[in-house]
Amino acid sequence: MSGRRALTRNQALVLEVLTRADEPLSAYAILDRLRDEGLRAPLQVYRALDKLLETGEVHRLDSLKAFVACSHPHDHPCTGLVAFAICESCARVFEFSDSAIEARFAAWAVEKAFLTKSTTLEISGICAACRSSADGSNPSD
Ligand SMILES: [Zn+2]
Ligand SMILES: [Zn+2]
Repeated sequence: MSGRRALTRNQALVLEVLTRADEPLSAYAILDRLRDEGLRAPLQVYRALDKLLETGEVHRLDSLKAFVACSHPHDHPCTGLVAFAICESCARVFEFSDSAIEARFAAWAVEKAFLTKSTTLEISGICAACRSSADGSNPSD
């Protein structure tokens, strides 16, 4: 939404690791991949993640206790609805936002006088690629 501010070195490193990863990473997995860059302490990763979460460049998946890079940083405000479909088979995450769903939540919140801080939907299931690779093996199920 707002102009991108310059990232610190650690923030840039963490964001790069998450952008290149094919699956959500825990803070420790991120740290593991950054040891060669001189990062040693989990706190360094957590501090960088905090900032990146705040700006919406990274999202946290509570069900997996893991982090993903935002797949479309300019598409939604960080306070808006973010939805993730998580494949149980390959762990890939598909991010999307949907203004119709967001409007429904917003209407509910107004009705209940609920002050929403953030809305994250996590959908678990099997992605198209995994479904097609499983095709034929279990036709009657
Ligand atoms: Zn996002
Ligand atoms: Zn899959």
